[in-house]
Amino acid sequence: MVDQNKLLRCEKMASVKVAVRVRPFNQREIDMDAKLIIQMNGKKTGILNSKANTRDESIRYKEFTFDYSYWSHDDDSEEFASQEQVYKDLGTEVVDCAFQGYNACVFAYGQTGSGKTYTMMGSSDSQGLIPRICKALFERMAEDSKRGTTHRVQVSYLEIYQEKVADLLRGRDTTSLKVREHPKRGPYVQGLTTCLVTHYGHIQECMNRGNSHRTTAATNMNDVSSRSHAIFTITFVQAGYCDGVPSETVSKIHLVDLAGSERADTTGATGQRLKEGAHINKSLVTLGSVISALAELSIESHGQKKFFIPYRDSVLTWLLKDSLGGNSKTIMIAAISPADCNYGETLSTLRYANRAKNIINKPTVNED
Ligand code: ADP
Repeated sequence: MVDQNKLLRCEKMASVKVAVRVRPFNQREIDMDAKLIIQMNGKKTGILNSKANTRDESIRYKEFTFDYSYWSHDDDSEEFASQEQVYKDLGTEVVDCAFQGYNACVFAYGQTGSGKTYTMMGSSDSQGLIPRICKALFERMAEDSKRGTTHRVQVSYLEIYQEKVADLLRGRDTTSLKVREHPKRGPYVQGLTTCLVTHYGHIQECMNRGNSHRTTAATNMNDVSSRSHAIFTITFVQAGYCDGVPSETVSKIHLVDLAGSERADTTGATGQRLKEGAHINKSLVTLGSVISALAELSIESHGQKKFFIPYRDSVLTWLLKDSLGGNSKTIMIAAISPADCNYGETLSTLRYANRAKNIINKPTVNED
C-alpha cells in the first residue's frame, strides 16, 4: 500500500519543523505605546532587550534561526505570512504525511494572547491550520477514491486540564477519563468519544462542539484565556490492495492548542489560578524535556543508543508519544508578541522553540 519512494521522501523531511510567528500589536500594547522588539530576516528571528543597560550586543540582541519566521505586521514585507502561506508551508506536509502512512503532530506554543488559537483555528474571517488541514484531507480523499482506495476518518477532541482528561465531544461532562497504553497501538484514552466523519462539514461540527466546551478562566493576560491543552485527533485509515492482498494503513494527526506558557508570577495568579499554572507548567516543562531528550538522541546516536524519554511524566506528553519521535512528523509553531512589555515571555518562548529544532525522527510506517 505504501509506496517505498514516498517513504524515502518522507524520511528526508521527517525531522521536527519549527516556525515562529509574531502577531501584530494588540490594542493594549498600542495604548501603552509599546516598542517593537522583534526583527525577522529570512529564517531568522531576533529579539532586542530594549531595557538592557549595556553596550554588549550579545546581551542586547539575541538571534535564532528557525525553519520559518513569520511576520504579521505589514503585508509588504518578505517575511509576512498569511494564514494561507502558513498552511502551504506547514499544513500541506501534514496532509502528505498522513497519506503516506505517518503520524503527525502540530502544536502551538506561547504565552496567552500570542496567537496560538489564531494560527491553529483561525478567526471568523480567516481560517487557521486545523480547518485547512481537514479540508485538504477530504479533497485528497475524493481524488484518491477514484483510484480504488477507500478511506475512513474518525475524530476525537479532548482537553487536559490539571492533568485530567475530559472528553470535549461529550458535552459538559467533567468526568475524568483514564489514559492507557496498548503494547502495539500506544497510548489512548479509555472511553473517549470518537466520531466517524464523512465530509468536511461534519468534522467542522465536531470542532465547533468541542471548542464550545473548552475550559476557560480570566487572568490578567487576557479576558478569556485558555488554561487547558486541547488535542484534536484525526485517525485516518486507508484501505486498498498491496500486491493483490487487502491492506490497511492507519495514520494519526494530533492538532494541539497548548495552554498559555506564561509563568504564574507574571499573571498575578493566586489560589485556583496558581494551581492551574503549576499543572500547565509541569506539562510544558515535560514537553520541553521530551523534546530535548529526543534532540540529544538524534544528535548523539541517530536513534541507535537507548535514551530515557520521560513521556509518562505528564498526560500531554504521554498522549503525544506516538507523534513525538519515531513514527511521526512534528511541527511546532511558537507564537510571540512583538512588544517590549512581553520581553521575558517572548525570549523564553524563543529559547523553548530553539531547543525543539534538533529532533530527527526515525520514520517507520504504520501498517497492519
Ligand atoms: P492565544 O490563543 O495565544 O491566547 P489568540 O490566538 O487568541 O491568542 O490571539 C490573540 C488575539 O490576537 C486575537 O484577537 C487574534 O485574532 C489576534 N492575532 C493573533 N495572531 C495574529 C496574526 N498573526 N494576525 C492577526 N491577528 C492575530
